[in-house]
Amino acid sequence: MYDPKSLNAQEFICHGEALDTISYARANAQNHSLIESILDKARTRKGLSHREAQVLLECSIPELNEEIFTLAKQIKMDYYGNRIVMFAPLYLSNYCINGCLYCPYHSKNKNIARKKLTQEDIVREVTALQDMGHKRLALEAGEDPKNNPLEYILECINTIYSIKHKNGAIRRVNVNIAATTVDNYTRLRDAGIGTYILFQETYLKDSYLELHPYGPKHDYNWHTEAMDRAMFGGIDDVGLGVLFGLENYRYEFAALLMHAEHLEAVHGVGPHTISVPRVRAADDIDPSAFNGGITDDTFAKIVACIRISVPYTGMIVSTRESRECRERVLDLGISQISGGSRTSVGGYYEEETENSTQFEVNDNRTLDEVISWLMELGHIPSFCTACYREGRTGDRFMALCKSGKILNCCHPNALMTLKEYLVDYASPKTLEMGNSLINTEINVVPSKKLRGIVAQKLVEIEKGARDFRI
Ligand code: SF4
Ligand code: SF4
Repeated sequence: MYDPKSLNAQEFICHGEALDTISYARANAQNHSLIESILDKARTRKGLSHREAQVLLECSIPELNEEIFTLAKQIKMDYYGNRIVMFAPLYLSNYCINGCLYCPYHSKNKNIARKKLTQEDIVREVTALQDMGHKRLALEAGEDPKNNPLEYILECINTIYSIKHKNGAIRRVNVNIAATTVDNYTRLRDAGIGTYILFQETYLKDSYLELHPYGPKHDYNWHTEAMDRAMFGGIDDVGLGVLFGLENYRYEFAALLMHAEHLEAVHGVGPHTISVPRVRAADDIDPSAFNGGITDDTFAKIVACIRISVPYTGMIVSTRESRECRERVLDLGISQISGGSRTSVGGYYEEETENSTQFEVNDNRTLDEVISWLMELGHIPSFCTACYREGRTGDRFMALCKSGKILNCCHPNALMTLKEYLVDYASPKTLEMGNSLINTEINVVPSKKLRGIVAQKLVEIEKGARDFRI
């Protein structure tokens, strides 16, 4: 039986409830009045249940689908404005003892070069990332207690935060590592991580067991209950995600929203972010071998329906997606993207001579190209990391977000961190475009007092001061 308050994965991700939800939504795909009433509820900005969200996902009435996309865009603008937060993945190690069938790092793959960054390598990688302009990283590592024990991850975090190169600094380290114990999550919190991210890959248990034939990740409950352990261990912000393409997207969508409901029911705070990766080609991985490939249209609908259903949750899309696809979903609800990414171990500093990549990148542009592209589209690229550094995490963050007041922080912080990027790292074309954008966007800061403060800080940044935040 579906029980969002249960701590048992079989109950908060209830298989029967997911199947019933899909059937209910299919039966109501043309139910005009029901869909209208769900849209009315969504317009109150209080979010939707997984069942209601599924009906919108299934809706096959063209004019109501238009309304779904329009509402997603409005909600995105109301809560996040036009800022897009930038981040980069940093691969620490591709040693892994798991057998995930969709990932080339699985332990039986003998074709790829196995690598693990030393602390000296990390200094080189992070210096290269700082020279690009990045301030926020997502650490990635395979699961291997011998090669990548938690002590190694903690040492890496410590090294990363200590590196100060020219005006560069990594101000927020998010961590995407294997499910672990409550004690270990507490140690990660104490190391100063931002969000703990763990993708479920698929929520469908039978498929999950087949796709993870051996290794600790084979244990469905251990993996699915990880976010609870993380939050019990003191981590306020957790990031969910499924790997779309492995299984039926309808099932994943229903279960993902059940997981969000569960976190809210147990911890009083939903997921900080939801990522929407799709399976990509890689060494010995062929995406067509899996059951659930989805078109770009379906992908856009999923993004729009998540945006409407959990308005306060940030949404992330990576360079797995093409420029065209990213352009489309940015408007529909994405609030955070990666740029200039390397998906190999040591890829920022070294030319890739040995194959150690986790997946093929679909958007190969430099960070500077991504920044100028975002501005051409009317977005403000942001390197903001303020909330976690100001203690605005968990329920404190959610309260600000739900009141719509977070925009009063996001917008000025976007302008100030963009200015830092422009002064320190931008090409002449991006610099010119960015300064003109800032001159326009500063007028959008609602309070006169705050506008004055931001204008003053922008001048100080020109003169060499750094790291202002609201
Ligand atoms: S997805 Fe993660 S756990 Fe699975 S093989 Fe790849 S690195 Fe290892
Ligand atoms: S102010 Fe907070 S929510 Fe807004 S961009 Fe910065 S860190 Fe994110």
